[in-house]
Amino acid sequence: MKGFQAQELTRVIEINSKICKGCDSCKAFCPTDAIDGKYGAVHRVNSEKCIFCGQCLVNCPFGAPKDTIDVVDKVIEKLKNKQVTVVGTIAPAVRVAIGEEFGIEPGSLVTEKLYGAMKQAGFKILDTNFTADQTIMEEGTELIAKIRHYVLGEPSAHHLGPLPQFTSCCPAWIRYVELYYPELIPNLSSAKSPMMMAGALAKTYGAKEVWKVNHEDIYMVGIMPCTAKKFEASRPEFESAAHYWSRQGKKVSYPDVDVVLTTRDLARLFKKLNIDFKSVPEFTDKDNPLAQYSGAGTIFGNTGGVMEAVLRTAHFVITGKELDVLEFKPIRGLTGVKEASIVMKDAKTGKEITMKVAVAHGLKNNVKPLLEEAKSGKSPYHFIEIMNCPGGCVNGGGQPINPMGTSWLDKGKAMFPWA
Ligand code: SF4
Ligand code: SF4
Ligand code: SF4
Repeated sequence: MKGFQAQELTRVIEINSKICKGCDSCKAFCPTDAIDGKYGAVHRVNSEKCIFCGQCLVNCPFGAPKDTIDVVDKVIEKLKNKQVTVVGTIAPAVRVAIGEEFGIEPGSLVTEKLYGAMKQAGFKILDTNFTADQTIMEEGTELIAKIRHYVLGEPSAHHLGPLPQFTSCCPAWIRYVELYYPELIPNLSSAKSPMMMAGALAKTYGAKEVWKVNHEDIYMVGIMPCTAKKFEASRPEFESAAHYWSRQGKKVSYPDVDVVLTTRDLARLFKKLNIDFKSVPEFTDKDNPLAQYSGAGTIFGNTGGVMEAVLRTAHFVITGKELDVLEFKPIRGLTGVKEASIVMKDAKTGKEITMKVAVAHGLKNNVKPLLEEAKSGKSPYHFIEIMNCPGGCVNGGGQPINPMGTSWLDKGKAMFPWA
């Protein structure tokens, strides 16, 4: 893997001109108006405007848009190579969707079966829930530092980005900010997404302490509900493990995450390897420290769950007490946007702080007013969670394609935002 040169993907989704009927449906799901074409004519994706979310793909009634990055055979080749340790990091939303590809009822949680099938295929496992916990600690710590500095007036030894702090785990949202709201880049949390933390961790601690292999022999595969994650993994700044080893005097260059498989890709991989998902023995990787995660993983299943996990951390650090109940209320006039506020008393100074937070899902319709407020410096919020896909990652562009598009999951309860 020496001599690797990161090549950022510039195109992930394209429309097959032989299949496209020019029906215009996809335009209603595209958050960035990146689809060109008159009604009745073949449509095309403008990659310069596209944020690679795949919402057009999962909602086209004719199956015309396709994911252009197919790495299934490449991963199979690595799995067959005994010199290579292939590590898969599984996002939460994959485990509620993969069963559908094998005739299990949509929405069924099949974590142990998924672990079993991964084991049979030859993967080592690093659960993305493990690094989601780390992301919560990072984002929470960053938020606490900003609250202490900007709200409580304490001096800070570090440069801190402005409030409101936005979450940073959704790569389509990050590309959206970069392309359409660059003024808000400093407001993004500096924490990596759980997938990128998993890559860096696998090729450092994981190689040394868990799998006891040479870090250069780890092939890291993100297993995600998301097509934009393919883009995220290709970004050249994500070489933290290589930087770590280079600082130890072993000059190397490789990406933290080598490739990404969507939920659909993983199902194809299992089928190609003749793994019968329905009958595969269940497996819990209980001796693997990187396959454990806290109870915070459980609340990811509810709307605003990520935000709640970060707030619980912040509340405990600032007040020294657990947060009782956090209630999110819909913001009038904005579908899919909710807010909550909590009053906290700083244990150190006795000062009272009212912290206001918002969660928004679905870039297409919901977030612009929040972003405009933040841009003008008038946002009432301290922390805002934003995910591109309607309902979060469970409706991601890499999930199984349902004849109903993404609307089947709009039950107001299922949402697994961290990938
Ligand atoms: S929804 Fe599908 S068929 Fe219709 S215009 Fe878009 S890509 Fe073409
Ligand atoms: S991938 Fe997302 S941003 Fe790109 S064209 Fe499709 S819906 Fe639009
Ligand atoms: S919401 Fe989730 S699935 Fe959708 S683009 Fe963001 S990270 Fe990917």
